[in-house]
Amino acid sequence: MSLIVQKYGGSSVQDAESIKRVARRIVDTKKAGNQVVVVVSAMGDTTDDLLDLAADISSHPPLREMDILLSSGERMSMALLAMAIHELGETAQSFTGSQAGMITDAIHGKARIIEVSPKRVQAAVDEGHVGIVAGFQGMSRESKDITTMGRGGSDTTAVALAAALNADVCEIYTDVDGVFTADPRVVRTARKIDTISSEDMLEMAAAGTKVLHLRSVEYARRFGVKLHVRSSFSEKEGTWVIPDESDKVTIKEGEPLEQPIISGIAHDSSEGKLTITGVPDVPGKAAEIFNRIAEASINIDMIVQDVSMETQTTNISFTLPGADGEKAQRILLENKESIGFQNLDFVPQVGKVSLVGGGMRNHPGVSARFFTALRDAGINIGLISTSEIRVSVITDVELLDKAVQAIHTAFELDSDEEAKVYAGTGR
Ligand code: ADP
Ligand code: ASP
Ligand code: MG
Repeated sequence: MSLIVQKYGGSSVQDAESIKRVARRIVDTKKAGNQVVVVVSAMGDTTDDLLDLAADISSHPPLREMDILLSSGERMSMALLAMAIHELGETAQSFTGSQAGMITDAIHGKARIIEVSPKRVQAAVDEGHVGIVAGFQGMSRESKDITTMGRGGSDTTAVALAAALNADVCEIYTDVDGVFTADPRVVRTARKIDTISSEDMLEMAAAGTKVLHLRSVEYARRFGVKLHVRSSFSEKEGTWVIPDESDKVTIKEGEPLEQPIISGIAHDSSEGKLTITGVPDVPGKAAEIFNRIAEASINIDMIVQDVSMETQTTNISFTLPGADGEKAQRILLENKESIGFQNLDFVPQVGKVSLVGGGMRNHPGVSARFFTALRDAGINIGLISTSEIRVSVITDVELLDKAVQAIHTAFELDSDEEAKVYAGTGR
């Protein structure tokens, strides 16, 4: 008998009808002779609605209360889903993150998993029930408080449970047919990828491809969990994320062996750009700036430092989550004297577009083609950053979709068919 972990995202359980549809799918999987553990997200845009509600009440809500609030979205859907399964004549038991043994650190809103001991879930499954677990939440070992793991974290709950329960596969059910060469909401002719290496998937997720939570890909890679991303609205085979030992690429007949292999294009519009001007060009200034930022638990992404001017000063720009911009500026201003800079300039929202593919490693032409596509589309480039298998640039946020489309076409990734988006608002 196989044990299957299935995760259903918000748009798959957005209303009562959807919950019933998902329940049928779960019951079918069980009836086919499998044990099933389900991880469920909050219904539709519930998490965003809860965030809006909190913002109407407080501009700086206590993070402990925020996590209790946000974790309630997933609790609603898990109980409703269990009821829907009972309606179909099967039994199910739902568990909150803490009941399911998801033990995390105490960082509210960004909690990391320390231990997973899903004893109660295992017992429920052994007794013949479907086990249902609320996504993206846990309990801090230290404070015993409820924690959440960050937006999109239910994918990581699913993978962590799959690892702890030694599941045969972790299926991530969403509102598109799998991982595509670009976001199908932006590029209608994006192509579904049948298999992607976990290395490329990691870069895509890190660069903003939100169909999988970055940490879920890292976790799956570390524990060898087989990931299958697919639609809850169709029976189609989705995308398999394959671990490294099977990172081989299948070359179709007639295809040149040395063709640069691009997996896809990721984009992100959640970052802002902070520029610090007139920083003294002496050793230790970057260390001071980035230590201060790190102490505030702010993740930075791209960094660029200009060459020093005759004035012996330089400018440092970096990108960071737009929501952290205010905090970063406050911290830097508090340390203005000791750092000795002149001014701060903050752009709250910029666009980031990234080209990802393990095959670009030995292909110098890839960046040139990428920049040419942007030039031909009349798109100006802000910052640039690269890894061995990725090129990213910052653009005007208004031009981001155009940039993604231009690059997708330049790398001949367009499919003849239109990609299907079954539900969701893309929020
Ligand atoms: P869920 O609620 O199921 O967790 P998400 O909204 O988190 O779903 O992720 C699914 C969405 O990810 C899709 O609707 C799509 O718009 C977006 N997306 C972005 N890039 C890609 C990509 N390369 N392939 C597939 N989906 C993508
Ligand atoms: N409901 C949470 C969110 O919207 C977690 C998740 O769906 O993965 O971010
Ligand atoms: Mg998601």
